[in-house]
Amino acid sequence: MENKKLGWAIVGLGKFATEQLIPAFKDCKYSELVALVSGSPEKAAQVAAEYGLNTPNIYNYQNYDTLKDNPAVDVIYIVLPNSLHAEFTVRGTQAGKHIMCEKPMATNVADCQKMIEACQQAGKQLMIGYRAQYETYNLKCIELIREGKIGDLKLITSDHGRPLKPDKPEDKWRADKKLAGGGSLMDIGIYSLQACRYLTGEEPVEVSAMMHNTPGDPRFKEVEENITFSLRFPGGVLANCSSSYSFFETKRFQAFGSAGNITLDPATDYNEHYLTLKTEEGTEEIKLKGNNHFAAEIDHFSECILENKTPKTPGKEGLRDVKLMMAIYEAAEKGQPVKV
Ligand code: NDP
Repeated sequence: MENKKLGWAIVGLGKFATEQLIPAFKDCKYSELVALVSGSPEKAAQVAAEYGLNTPNIYNYQNYDTLKDNPAVDVIYIVLPNSLHAEFTVRGTQAGKHIMCEKPMATNVADCQKMIEACQQAGKQLMIGYRAQYETYNLKCIELIREGKIGDLKLITSDHGRPLKPDKPEDKWRADKKLAGGGSLMDIGIYSLQACRYLTGEEPVEVSAMMHNTPGDPRFKEVEENITFSLRFPGGVLANCSSSYSFFETKRFQAFGSAGNITLDPATDYNEHYLTLKTEEGTEEIKLKGNNHFAAEIDHFSECILENKTPKTPGKEGLRDVKLMMAIYEAAEKGQPVKV
């Protein structure tokens, strides 16, 4: 495995792909960017030139299926608007490639199931890009909880928010329900949901929720602005979460235990993390070296493919979150708790 690098194709050259994922390949040991798929030939040519890719390895959404004839590509990474994830996963795996797909996995449960089945039928792996699960500070929080550093875990709170700006290309489709599937919950509330699941290591059994859109705000004609949701875990832990498309930048969680608290704020930023542990002995800031977690998640998938192992965040992890988000919407709409 020492010198083996798998070839990756990135689908959708938007803000996240060009600013975070593509630059991360320089820090990868087992993964190399070899192809691009884009609706914009000019942008693709520019990115290819910047990263020294062969121009024949530029594809568009129509000739995407011909990736099957390109043996240099082992893995396709789908970084498209949410409702397109399913189609491009199914087509990609039918072209004989392994698939990494961005969060949220899809906009409904049936699409998630279709994606999992298509990958199984093709004998290919599927991973969801839950980068926080490959990030050093988030992993440290899990370790502190498992080691009992805060005693028995009792409660988690987590909040994610940012103002939606549909005049920017990356936010235009986020205000469009057909492309986004939902609003702040599907986009960033999913980080709060994920945090509660990986910090407890359990699956929630009940959810309740409330939603609010500012009347008359044109950004929220189709998708929700603010949502709060509560989760009950089988071991007795409760969680209170929120997501917002109108808060000031917020990406935090806090875990409360019988003997201490952990705060990670920011928790899910691209670069910055601030971790404190509060116990009887006082409040300690925990400083870690930090890692390029985009490279870590990309390499994790390549390693799993090379060693024929299931990734840490496979398709069923994405399906679980989509099922839970649907239950959260149902609870908010009914004004009643929903068992899951
Ligand atoms: P952008 O709008 O910046 O990028 C999406 C790209 O998809 C576009 O640039 C375009 O690329 C392509 N595209 C194809 N069809 C359409 C269409 N109908 N409308 C708009 N774009 C289209 O979005 P982001 O990069 O912010 O998000 C992309 C995905 O990545 C989403 O699923 C999002 O949830 C996820 N994401 C994950 C993050 C994380 O931290 N894990 C952070 C940010 C986003 P082209 O011009 O090349 O065809």
